[in-house]
Amino acid sequence: MEDHVTPRRVVIVGGGFAGLFAARALRRSPVAVTLVDRRAHHLFQPLLYQCAAGILSEGQIAQPLRAVLRRHANVRCLLADATDVDVKGRAVHARRPEGGSVVVPYDDLIVAVGMRQSYFGHDEFAVHAPGMKTLADALEIRRRLYRAFEMAESAADAEERRQWLTFALVGGGPTGVELAGQIREIAGHTLDREFRTIDPLQAQVLLFEGSDHVLGTFGDRLAGKAARTLHDLGVELHLGTRVTDLDARGLTVQERDGTTTRHAARTVLWTAGVEAPPLARALAKAAGAEQDHAGRIAVKPDLTLPGHPEIRVVGDAMSLNHLPGLAEVAMQSGAYAGRAVRHTVEGRTRKPKPFRYRDLGAAAYICRGRAVVKAGPVHLSGVSGWLTWLFIHVAFLTGFRSRLGAALSWAIVFASGARRERAFTLPDSDPEPARPRVPHGSTAVLRGP
Ligand SMILES: Cc1cc2nc3c(=O)[nH]c(=O)nc-3n(C[C@H](O)[C@H](O)[C@H](O)COP(=O)(O)OP(=O)(O)OC[C@H]3O[C@@H](n4cnc5c(N)ncnc54)[C@H](O)[C@@H]3O)c2cc1C
Repeated sequence: MEDHVTPRRVVIVGGGFAGLFAARALRRSPVAVTLVDRRAHHLFQPLLYQCAAGILSEGQIAQPLRAVLRRHANVRCLLADATDVDVKGRAVHARRPEGGSVVVPYDDLIVAVGMRQSYFGHDEFAVHAPGMKTLADALEIRRRLYRAFEMAESAADAEERRQWLTFALVGGGPTGVELAGQIREIAGHTLDREFRTIDPLQAQVLLFEGSDHVLGTFGDRLAGKAARTLHDLGVELHLGTRVTDLDARGLTVQERDGTTTRHAARTVLWTAGVEAPPLARALAKAAGAEQDHAGRIAVKPDLTLPGHPEIRVVGDAMSLNHLPGLAEVAMQSGAYAGRAVRHTVEGRTRKPKPFRYRDLGAAAYICRGRAVVKAGPVHLSGVSGWLTWLFIHVAFLTGFRSRLGAALSWAIVFASGARRERAFTLPDSDPEPARPRVPHGSTAVLRGP
């Protein structure tokens, strides 16, 4: 097809793992790449929970996209939220963050928009139970975690204190398990000897999961080990439960036998389920593509859309052979799409081989010295799993300085329990002109030390 201008214009929507690897694969090609992302940074999502838990800083898990791609002279970064695709006119329509819109024409389009948190039709839960998908989510969770201990310290009575010291996590996948372990570690190590009224170790962590296992995708053996480790840590597992209601004071769950139970907890965090962002629906509609139950777009084995060889969908947002939503799938599919465009530009006429995912496995951290790793026939847990987890994450973090910084932060936290990134802000903590405050909530009389 020769209906494109020179140099060929490649638009990549999304600068996550998939988009970044697509851009990198095009580095030496005579193409003009525009990378559109609604955020200015590339985020290392697998370590979001460590940012939330106060181990790593924002800068250690998020790098400015411009900085990451500064040596890619053919890539231009655009901060904008893609809202629609004009498939006939070959242009992406996007909204600029401070108002106004922009139209970005393309010859080839690579869509790498990832997935967002799903509340299974209960979007109203989000205000009380933040998910874990963005940097803002991680900072919000950090605020809620450390705020809870502060509030418990000045609670009016034992019941209020108990509620602030109860943390409910919805979803027993890797993120839920990792967060559960982190909260128990914060309570047991980090906050040790810092409070005078409360004993942080009394913090209760409740983990709710709809299936019969935590970490079900790791297989029965590792899932069983993870459940035992969580139990030893003091995490209460509620398997086979479904959340039916949720508010600022706790949640109601339906048990297997149909009965419902109310659990009081002032901190509820949501890590269950994902759905495609709105752009996926807009693209599917415009291109006549199919979507699966979560909104992922069905692609052909070469990652293009049926009838649209110029549009590729990669990473979490693509639906192909039930591939899981993993960083490796995103990296490999992004790189494949970038190479496919390169081959077209180079005039290679041979049909590309279908995309084949090389399964490098998955890992989940539970607590200090305990992690599970599954890579083909290799199943690791305990200390060997933990060391492997450490190696993988140091190796894959984007940027040398982030790797060094993260390794140092881990050494400190593993050796002493101290976490350097505990600062959080409260919505009304800005200095404001004196204003009469309306008292709300109950009044506590401080107990002596
Ligand atoms: C908390 C957490 C822990 C995880 N742990 C692991 C793990 O241990 N191992 C593992 O392999 N995987 C893990 N994953 C999954 C892994 O992070 C994802 O599979 C991977 O990030 C997917 O990459 P992606 O590029 O497809 O999407 P993303 O990384 O989500 O990137 C999508 C990008 O698109 C941008 N975007 C979205 N919509 C628009 C729009 N309309 N306009 C412009 N830009 C847009 C977003 O801002 C984002 O930058 C984890 C994920 C999470 C959330």
